[in-house]
Amino acid sequence: MAEAPPLPAGSLPGATPPSRPHAGAPAGAPEHGVSCRTKIVATLGPASSDYDTIRDLAFAGADVFRFNFSHGTHRDHAARHAVVRQVEAELGRPLGILADMQGPKLRVGSFAGGRVTLVAGQPFRFDLSDTPGDATRVCLPHPEIIAVAVPGSRLLMDDGRLAVTVEETGPGWLRTRVEIGGVLSDHKGVNVPDVTLPIPALTPKDRADMAFALDMGVDYIALSFVQRPQDLIEARELIGERASLLAKLEKPQAVENLAGILALADAVMVARGDLGVELPPESVPLIQKRIIREARRLGKPVVVATQMLESMISAPTPTRAEASDVATAVFDGADAVMLSAESAVGQYPREAVRIMNRILWRVEQDAGWRAQMAAARLAPEDYVADAIASAVQQVADTLHACAIVAYTHRGATALRIARERPGSPVLGVTPVLHAARRMALVWGVQAFVSAPHTTRTTVEDIVEAAREVVASAGMGQPGDTVVVAAGMPFGVSGSTNLLRVVTLT
Ligand code: PGA
Ligand code: MN
Repeated sequence: MAEAPPLPAGSLPGATPPSRPHAGAPAGAPEHGVSCRTKIVATLGPASSDYDTIRDLAFAGADVFRFNFSHGTHRDHAARHAVVRQVEAELGRPLGILADMQGPKLRVGSFAGGRVTLVAGQPFRFDLSDTPGDATRVCLPHPEIIAVAVPGSRLLMDDGRLAVTVEETGPGWLRTRVEIGGVLSDHKGVNVPDVTLPIPALTPKDRADMAFALDMGVDYIALSFVQRPQDLIEARELIGERASLLAKLEKPQAVENLAGILALADAVMVARGDLGVELPPESVPLIQKRIIREARRLGKPVVVATQMLESMISAPTPTRAEASDVATAVFDGADAVMLSAESAVGQYPREAVRIMNRILWRVEQDAGWRAQMAAARLAPEDYVADAIASAVQQVADTLHACAIVAYTHRGATALRIARERPGSPVLGVTPVLHAARRMALVWGVQAFVSAPHTTRTTVEDIVEAAREVVASAGMGQPGDTVVVAAGMPFGVSGSTNLLRVVTLT
């Protein structure tokens, strides 16, 4: 990874202190966000691509911006990218960019009349013929589905509104029985939850989009439709070190292969939209908890996504149930919560980020939440850097430290400290700009870009630099304690072996 390029004066480092207005918020901004431990991912789209809106979303608390490659042109994404980077420089706070690949989209063909009505209990056939469909059959232009479906497999259509079960298969066709009827129109989406499809997670479009996103310099690539660990290996080969790899968990097969997928991913997303189509909705809350638990055990960031504030697409306030859903994700221990259509195409993108931030903030003030985080704390693994991370949490919490300063090269040390869910804010200091931006997704971490660590050679230098970081974050009073984690020799990745307690003067 490249070292950080010099940044404009007064820019990074300069992260936002917690419980204070975002640094650089314009005077008179309607409602300054406060920085929460739980992070916010906001999807950008037609409702949120101009400079003012993106700036307001960042001020209101958005930490990572998601570019959804299912929509928009490369030109649209490039324009958004430039704006996010401009806002980042103005704010002085590293912002992450997540490029979300569309993945394979399975769809039925078209109908002679544009639509038909399927009736429960009636037979219906899928085949490969491109003759327009009727009430008895339609084209399913995916031979892979036809090849692997077996009697008993379900096909769901239009986001699960319609369902059929396969009764008989033949070369190039499936005979099914309609379970849940309704109107089926041209090119509606198809989900096939019961079988592993021999379809790679990366389509030719995804490969082109990914190359474009990597050239732009995004921080995370999100991979849709992951079924097997192999899907991640293929993506990783293309990405190399240029970005972190986030696996979207939206297929039952991904949940079955969770351990193998988590081992290869840098981060994961509980993609509840497709997950809730492929699995019964009542399964989703428990799967959400399980994925968060497993990801946290490995210290990998986990994002909870989809429909979090869905009603805010067209209303300025959320429902009580939505507020509760966001709070639940915080209690479950997610690193980040995400807005999709709410911020991308909704009428109230600013309000959605603001209310999300307020819900996070409110939960994080709760003593019960703190106790729950502490109770869920995980034992360190048996290597030096992790023992230090665990000790950092214990020392910081025992001394009520105003901050933890973690020197980290690629962010690994900050991730391990975040895994301990310490009560004190974690200031992750890295010379690598990309690493700082990736930390935008990580629970409790505020990232700072520093001069190359090699210019600091003694413990005194490290302590002095830590004081500067804490001061530039606007934290701490004379007499307050800061806990510092660093490595000696300094600046060498993977060398974290030093814990130092510093009293501010
Ligand atoms: P999508 O993914 O919005 O790109 O489909 C998220 C989900 O399925 O929840
Ligand atoms: Mn999805």
